[in-house]
Amino acid sequence: MKTTVVSREYKELQSKIIKLQESWKNSVHADGVNPNLDKAAMAAGVPVVALADIHFEIPLFLQWIKELEELLVNQNPALSASFEILNDKLTETVAHQWIEEALSFNQSYFNEFARETGLEEWLPYFLAESAVRPYLQILAEKAQPEIHKAEPRCGCQVCGEPVRIAQLEGEGQKVVYCPRCTVHWRDKRVACSHCGNNDHKTVENMNVEGEAAAQIQVCEKCHGYTKVIDTRQYITKPTVAILDLTTIHLDFIAQERGYTSGGSPKGKN
Ligand SMILES: [Zn+2]
Ligand SMILES: [Zn+2]
Repeated sequence: MKTTVVSREYKELQSKIIKLQESWKNSVHADGVNPNLDKAAMAAGVPVVALADIHFEIPLFLQWIKELEELLVNQNPALSASFEILNDKLTETVAHQWIEEALSFNQSYFNEFARETGLEEWLPYFLAESAVRPYLQILAEKAQPEIHKAEPRCGCQVCGEPVRIAQLEGEGQKVVYCPRCTVHWRDKRVACSHCGNNDHKTVENMNVEGEAAAQIQVCEKCHGYTKVIDTRQYITKPTVAILDLTTIHLDFIAQERGYTSGGSPKGKN
């Protein structure tokens, strides 16, 4: 199996953004981020973020967008015209809306925003998503002691992100990590982390040429995939965001073969 090449520029930009997010996280008042761990809601697959009490600091949010602007324009000067438009449009009210829509994965809101303002289609969602992550990560740290599993087909129990990466730890235990909020939970070694299927005949571990420490676990029932990385073989263990980024070629391999992160939509199996 061949590995697909991902542009070095893309990886460099993403790793710079991850570094920014780590520093942003330190500037948030963690007291303003409070999960409301409602067991019934969690059992029903409602992500913790939906019921959390979070005080979003809008000046910080706008500052982070500025820092992203600097990074993106530096890489692609043509984007400066878009940021000129955006700086007019992105009021405090709009910023609140962006946060709300990013947390509920409302891509169509952002597509519409881009269309109305004449911005690149990817830009508003990309910015909003990048700037909500520090809050999600603080929320995940606070919720972590109560996160022991994910409900089938509901994604990450804190933020709702579809599963796509797990690490082998200790004796070979599979631990699923959310690359968006960083929360983690244990799962069976041979089980689909999307739909819960644990039939050995339909959950398969694919080896990838040249990858001694990585497999792609695929499920023939829901057509979901999970990258399973044996980070015990790493000298320095990267953060999950970096691990997800450096293994992005595995996502392409899985997707080329018709598997999706998240599996097929709920109820469609
Ligand atoms: Zn998450
Ligand atoms: Zn499955």
